[in-house]
Amino acid sequence: MMRIPFHKPYITEEEIEGVVDSLKNGWLTMGKKTIEFEERFKAYIGSQHAVAVNSCTAALHLALRVIGIKEGDEVIVPTTTFVATAEVVNYFNAKPVLVDVERDTHLIDVEKIEEKITKRTKAIIPVHFSGQPADMDPIMELAKKYNLFVVEDAAHSLPAWYKGRKIGTIGDITAFSFYATKTITTGEGGMATTDNPEWAERMKILRLHGISKDAWKRYTKEGSWEYDVLENGYKYNTTDINAALGLAQLKKADWLWERRKHIAERYNEAFKDYEELILYRVKEDRTSSWHLYPLKLNLEALKIDRNGFIEELKNRGIGTSVHFIPLYRFTYYKERFGYTPQEFPNSEWVFERVLSLPIYPGMTEEEIDYVIENVVDIVKTYRR
Ligand SMILES: *Cc1c(COP(=O)(O)O)cnc(C)c1O
Repeated sequence: MMRIPFHKPYITEEEIEGVVDSLKNGWLTMGKKTIEFEERFKAYIGSQHAVAVNSCTAALHLALRVIGIKEGDEVIVPTTTFVATAEVVNYFNAKPVLVDVERDTHLIDVEKIEEKITKRTKAIIPVHFSGQPADMDPIMELAKKYNLFVVEDAAHSLPAWYKGRKIGTIGDITAFSFYATKTITTGEGGMATTDNPEWAERMKILRLHGISKDAWKRYTKEGSWEYDVLENGYKYNTTDINAALGLAQLKKADWLWERRKHIAERYNEAFKDYEELILYRVKEDRTSSWHLYPLKLNLEALKIDRNGFIEELKNRGIGTSVHFIPLYRFTYYKERFGYTPQEFPNSEWVFERVLSLPIYPGMTEEEIDYVIENVVDIVKTYRR
């Protein structure tokens, strides 16, 4: 039996050498490599500014802080996302207002946003689920009409394109993740991109305790011990060790994407003729990063449910995951905001059926074959 984990990061000698160089040169925390990482990242995305932080969650938090989210505000968030997207809204004692997703794309359903907008609504956080960009044109139009900010959760979408535009250049601020399982990784890390110089500057100050500009330089030759604290900040800076990893990974980002795209195409081709399986839809006008390969089960045609299917794959050595447990199912969201599954029929429908198959650049053709053969075998065993 083969063993195929759900994810393996793609780490080569280049990443190892970069980290070793940071360790040897003695500059461990945020410094020149971080600045180089930011420069390369914004060039790759095509944004005016990039601010490196220690997670995507931190990037989302700083974004909401600089656009001015306050207690009592409301922020529109899709149901089907990682908890970080809504958690950052709670940091302000603002309310994450959940909106149902589409059944075929699992993206926020733009038809259902407007009815949730109130006088208190300040922002929308679209999530580019699995790497497919959300419907950015209608979202930006709604934002314009109601004077809202758009902060994109791009944790999955490096790289991805919406009508030819790269994700990271469309909304007011975009937050990327370099968590261990994401499309490029720094172990832990994140980046905020924006075209607004004031916001970029303020996020740079806030990420290191609110200390006046270039605080990290106080330990360099040019630096001095003196500094000021301009406002109450956070400990959200990244390190040069992480940035060294990021620099090596960013160089490969396009190739890593080609590999994931190849795997997605092989799965799509192999599964398309099975009525027991429901392929994930990517809309025609956009390109997914294929961070995830979501597959849904046609439960009406099968004698096995989603959890049983995952168990079968596990018994055959194949790791899977579920993206995501919708937020309204969590105790905190139920108790604090009173959300119920009945309000979000599409999210429930997706959640009952969906699983994520392994899709990472290091997968061999034999490993892809093995996943395909086993999915098909389980389907044939359990079809009605
Ligand atoms: C991973 C993830 C995050 C959080 O990223 P971190 O870098 O771990 O903070 C946010 N949103 C989504 C959709 C994610 O998948």
